[in-house]
Amino acid sequence: MPLRLAIGFAVTAVGAGFVAWRAAFLVRLALAGREAPGRLARLPRQLWAEVTDVFAQRKLLRWSVPGVAHFFTFWGFIALLFTIVEVYGDLFYRRFAFPFVGHTAGLGFVEDFFAFLVLAAVVTFAVIRLVRNPHERGRESRFYGSHTGLAWAVLGLIFLVIATLWLYRGAQYNDGTFPYGHTWWTFASHGVGLALAPFGHGGANAGIETAFILAQIAVIWGFFVLVVYSKHLHIFVSELNVLLSRRPKALGPLATTPNMDPEQISEEDVFGAGRIEHLTWKQYLDFYSCTECGRCQDQCPAWATAKPLSPKLLIMNLRDHLFASAPALLGRGDGDAKGHTGISLVPSVIDPDVLWSCTTCGACVEQCPVDIEHVDTIVDLRRYQVLMESSFPTEAGTMLRNVENRGDPWGLGSSHRLDWAEGLPFEVPVVGDSIPEGVEYLFWVGCAGALDERARRATQALARVLHRAGVSFAVLGPKESCTGDPARRMGNEYLFQTQAQQNIETLKGVGARKVVAWCPHCFNTLAREYPALGGDFEVIHHTQLLSRLVSEGRLRPSAPQDRSVTYHDPCYLARHNDVRQAPRSVLEAVPGLTSVEMHRHGRRTFCCGAGGSRMWMEERIGKRINAERTDEALSTGADVVGVACPYCMIMLDDAVKERQAAGTAPEALRVLDIAQVMEPSLGEMPPGAPQGAGP
Ligand code: SF4
Ligand code: SF4
Repeated sequence: MPLRLAIGFAVTAVGAGFVAWRAAFLVRLALAGREAPGRLARLPRQLWAEVTDVFAQRKLLRWSVPGVAHFFTFWGFIALLFTIVEVYGDLFYRRFAFPFVGHTAGLGFVEDFFAFLVLAAVVTFAVIRLVRNPHERGRESRFYGSHTGLAWAVLGLIFLVIATLWLYRGAQYNDGTFPYGHTWWTFASHGVGLALAPFGHGGANAGIETAFILAQIAVIWGFFVLVVYSKHLHIFVSELNVLLSRRPKALGPLATTPNMDPEQISEEDVFGAGRIEHLTWKQYLDFYSCTECGRCQDQCPAWATAKPLSPKLLIMNLRDHLFASAPALLGRGDGDAKGHTGISLVPSVIDPDVLWSCTTCGACVEQCPVDIEHVDTIVDLRRYQVLMESSFPTEAGTMLRNVENRGDPWGLGSSHRLDWAEGLPFEVPVVGDSIPEGVEYLFWVGCAGALDERARRATQALARVLHRAGVSFAVLGPKESCTGDPARRMGNEYLFQTQAQQNIETLKGVGARKVVAWCPHCFNTLAREYPALGGDFEVIHHTQLLSRLVSEGRLRPSAPQDRSVTYHDPCYLARHNDVRQAPRSVLEAVPGLTSVEMHRHGRRTFCCGAGGSRMWMEERIGKRINAERTDEALSTGADVVGVACPYCMIMLDDAVKERQAAGTAPEALRVLDIAQVMEPSLGEMPPGAPQGAGP
């Protein structure tokens, strides 16, 4: 056996051994997680997400420069697989060629071209890492907290893969064994060959060829070993993670709806995740997949306002803990029963301030290029704290008690549910035993829309606008109760399901089919989360209905409005439910109104700070999130901050008033719902028939 074949074999055997051992360990560890049912429930959409997000790199390309660099690296690696086969072919048989393709100039060009692109991408990544150096930029750098040393090592190894490739091919060029011949199609190998020409056409170049063929094999296996032992594992597992993601488009409902039926649960049941063994194999796969790119951290409103929560660091900490717990999970710990770590995730691994800082805005999930589902994990951790440990911020306890005892987070009770309708110039039908004949929509007002003073004014405006369009609607009044959204985001799944069952029963009882919701949180819960509990209704958000009424000509804004508006996308509308255009189309229909976008808008909107039940918790750390968002709105110079959510309205209005009191915001600045912005352009409400009614 020639020496180079023996060395090549030995290096391969050692590298492959390390990789195989690690791969087997990773598979066994992942399988130690809990079950994660329904992961292939929407296979056609999931396969499409694989095409768009993995092969077309859709999410990464939103970040132009690093996105393009990553695109070239991904496809470059695929093209370089040909060169790996060739280098092994060379080891065994000098005339090795791919069947059918052979050594055509086209293949040689593709290999050299993609190798060049990968090299260009490596340089780009290096520059990005220098510019975003976390040691200089601190928390502002998305790489803050990432393993930057390892990232440099991988960049170095990728560089060596390309360098050794071109060096052995350049040497082949001179010793007459280069299979693609003397052509500039293989421009890089050709160029390196010319540089090596002074070493002659035989001995020295033959030696260089052998040395760099072996070096390339060693570098490739070194790279594979580093990948499977580091965060670069994402190169092999992220494709699977994207495929198994349950939300290829909008964020949708939470992954799990545990069975909370008191007749079916037992003392042994564990709700949520208190220890690492309570998480599912899919969550373990999430941890394996994290690239530490920091895009989630960069978009997180908690992190941006100096709170301790970084979705990236949360995932990294859980991953580190998972690996540290492997002996216990796999049953090899000292005296540990198999699968029991005995270590509480909160506070040992995740600080309570980290856990309770999350607004469940979904910016992290939306940005993550490998579809990690941070919010599900955070809610799972909260569920355990609330349901198993009774441990949560004290002030949020009041909200939970109010929902449980009075049916709304403020504890005002059902008798106030219709107060908002007082003073309207028409009667709002209240549903009795069933929805009256001819009524098209059940108007789900929501707790904030019915009980908060500011939100009530928007509810009234919405009702007037719907009335003018001739939309027949009725409300549940005192029969309406909290959807359970704040309880669910807090982690009180039991209370959520109690509320949900009660509401589903009510809605089914009155024969509701079409529901229009004012609040995106109600909308999300009714439309996305009730179906898992047997509540299937046709639910739309009020901005979608207004947009439709405008396009059908049933609402005709005609009185010009000489003012400007900046629209704030609510997270539970723009991100969780993909509704971004409808509210904008309503604003566009208002003559004279100028719309100006905030820097963070649409999918990249910035939370108002109320989601995830944060509305009912004190915000003691860092800058207030609503103040941060309000400052961004103020920077646009708009006269109105347009909203489509009562939570956003309350949070932003509070911050605007603070700024006005401090003299840093114009006195005339208003926070208004889309319906309130539109209503004046409809002119005076005419007596008699509504504007859109009739033929
Ligand atoms: S959901 Fe929002 S607040 Fe929570 S970790 Fe993700 S980005 Fe941060
Ligand atoms: S969780 Fe996703 S976005 Fe965040 S650092 Fe990891 S890979 Fe990047």
